[in-house]
Amino acid sequence: MTVDLAALPSPGGKRLAVRVTKDAHRHLRRGHPWIYDASITSVSHDGAPGDLAVVFDDDRDFAAIGLWDPDSPIRIKVLHRGRPTPIDAAFWADRIDAAIEHRRALLDDPAHNAHRVIHGENDGMPGIVVDVYSDVAVVKIYSPAWIPHLRALVPALVERLAPTSMIVRLARSLAPRPDLGLVEGATLHGPMPTEPVMFVENGLTFEAHPTTGQKTGHFLDQRDNRARVRDLAEGQRVIDVFSCTGGFSVHAAAGGATEVRSVDLSGPAVDAAKRNMAHNADVSAVAAATHIGHHGDAFEVMDGLVRRGERFGLVVVDPPSFAQRQASVAGALAAYQRLTRLGLALTDTDGVLVQASCSSRVTADEFFAGVHATARSVGVDLDELDRTGHPLDHPIGFPQGAYLKALFARVHH
Ligand code: SAH
Repeated sequence: MTVDLAALPSPGGKRLAVRVTKDAHRHLRRGHPWIYDASITSVSHDGAPGDLAVVFDDDRDFAAIGLWDPDSPIRIKVLHRGRPTPIDAAFWADRIDAAIEHRRALLDDPAHNAHRVIHGENDGMPGIVVDVYSDVAVVKIYSPAWIPHLRALVPALVERLAPTSMIVRLARSLAPRPDLGLVEGATLHGPMPTEPVMFVENGLTFEAHPTTGQKTGHFLDQRDNRARVRDLAEGQRVIDVFSCTGGFSVHAAAGGATEVRSVDLSGPAVDAAKRNMAHNADVSAVAAATHIGHHGDAFEVMDGLVRRGERFGLVVVDPPSFAQRQASVAGALAAYQRLTRLGLALTDTDGVLVQASCSSRVTADEFFAGVHATARSVGVDLDELDRTGHPLDHPIGFPQGAYLKALFARVHH
């Protein structure tokens, strides 16, 4: 299906005038991109999703402008603070140019042709993400407030990214609009791409399914950690737990691992990991490595391997976010600790454990402290090699924007 851009609603002509609490002003001044429903003290009129809302300060001066999102507790997605500015095609063009400029080194690196070009609020565009896989761009929309702005935004993106095709993905909370062609996986520009789309990361070839894959098709945020894993894999047996489509697995094989195991709950993900290995069969180290897929629950698979006394020279554990809500933080920490115990039990002495967390509600300090405390509790010495955070194309624009952290540590039993 093709989105009928011309038929999409336009933002309402009348801007909302909004007053907010002192606390919200403080957050705004610190660069926070969200204004919650509960912080709003007055609104001029009812607005539709995507109408522009102007926040005034106590002196009735312009403080900020953002997208009105009447059905979300994050009622205003802030686009701009300071002096008044029109939100038009030129505004979007500036935002996209700034995001591209920030990523210049990555975009110019021929070892990769897949990147996150717009990382939501962290690039000044709260609620929208744009990823590029070779010549296919994927726009993921997390709020209906973006729909009236697509007509201006899509041409600005097409002009700068020059994709053959541009696909739209809708967050689960977003109601599709089949009447406008706005459904999951529809095209915003160009023909429907032939799936899969092939792309390169660290010089290795992968397939992405941008119309159906998890998120937008591939977890681009682990690119740098995968390169580190490649550098550590020579001559090792490697297990890639929560492998998804095998990003770490393929890098480990390319780095000279003798055997690579990919573990994931999703059968299609494990199958994709096998295909990604095959796409790199021209790399002699990949062709030489034995690849084994385990389709199952990571905790159970790890537990079974521990019971059988299996050990690996390199263990990668990259689970999904365990803390979707604040209330689940304690549970998430407990799950990370269980994974650390299992991961350590699977790591050879002098082998390396790589454990990652993508829960923004678990801070890097809490996570790293948890890994160390667990190692101490089982009498294992950890020799830290590295602590890593976000890659260049996933900038951190505000405190809640930080989510990814990983520990690389040598294990001494
Ligand atoms: N390491 C991957 C990304 C992992 S995303 C990469 O480099 O691309 C998290 C993955 O965990 C998803 O593929 C999901 O299918 C898988 N998953 C979720 N719960 C799981 C479980 N209990 N056991 C195994 N895999 C699980």
